[in-house]
Amino acid sequence: MSYVYFIPKNRSAQTVTVRSYRERQFLYLWRKKMRKFIVAGNWKMHTTVTSGRRLAGAVVEAVKVPKGMQVIFAPPATHLTAIQKVVKGKKRFACAAQNIHQAESGAYTGEISAAMVADTGASHVLIGHSERRQYFKETNAILNAKVQRALDHGLKVIFCCGEPLSVREKGRHFSYVIRQLTATVLKLDPKAFKRIVIAYEPIWAIGTGQTASPEQAQDMHYAIRDAVRRRLGDKAADRVSILYGGSVKPANAEEIFKQPDVDGGLVGGASLRAGDFIELIRIAADLDKRR
Ligand code: PEP
Repeated sequence: MSYVYFIPKNRSAQTVTVRSYRERQFLYLWRKKMRKFIVAGNWKMHTTVTSGRRLAGAVVEAVKVPKGMQVIFAPPATHLTAIQKVVKGKKRFACAAQNIHQAESGAYTGEISAAMVADTGASHVLIGHSERRQYFKETNAILNAKVQRALDHGLKVIFCCGEPLSVREKGRHFSYVIRQLTATVLKLDPKAFKRIVIAYEPIWAIGTGQTASPEQAQDMHYAIRDAVRRRLGDKAADRVSILYGGSVKPANAEEIFKQPDVDGGLVGGASLRAGDFIELIRIAADLDKRR
């Protein structure tokens, strides 16, 4: 029997031949299970070391993160050592920097290097966030240099992509986002790509309270995974975690996280409220248990 699998709006229909509904379910669950489900909190330029320690402490005390899942705090760079201490020994919690400079070291007053981040014990770094692209004019060339520097220091990269509203209104969001990726992380070889997590964050949904619908998120995540598959093969596509970001909160998380190609969330505002972030982790853990 033939089933029409998921068809994103920018692609022609694809059919996948499977013998039964159960086999189709099995394939979907197996593929999704290969990927780590991640809930990451981007604190941006909020909190102090003291309040950040309290926030992270409340979260780690309240939840046990199940196997196959990971919770990441991305506090300001000044807090990394302190927050790393909070998560130390807590299974499946980790810390990320929000940025690094692309140079190894040098006269870059105010910047931090990949080596400095790695030395705090943090395991990840965000690269390509739309706020960095927009306010700090980070081009693809700069992002590529940052990604390489992060990987050289053993850091994993949460690479952000996403389109502005004007692009979505013109219906060009798929090609825009795929271009952002082909110019950057899709240039990596499959071995290096294993250390990449992708975060799709439509700019019009960041900090606006306006979320992409679960269908809009799924469509884009499918398109991203498909682009990974074409460039880097099945293994890379089936393994890469693709997070959704943009006004995720407890009220909308379940419907978004449930989507077959959504492997968690990059959360801004709601990650600053311990209760909300704990709830998001619980929603993710619950879904992860059922998949
Ligand atoms: C973000 O900044 O990465 C983000 C998704 O923010 P918010 O959840 O507040 O939209």
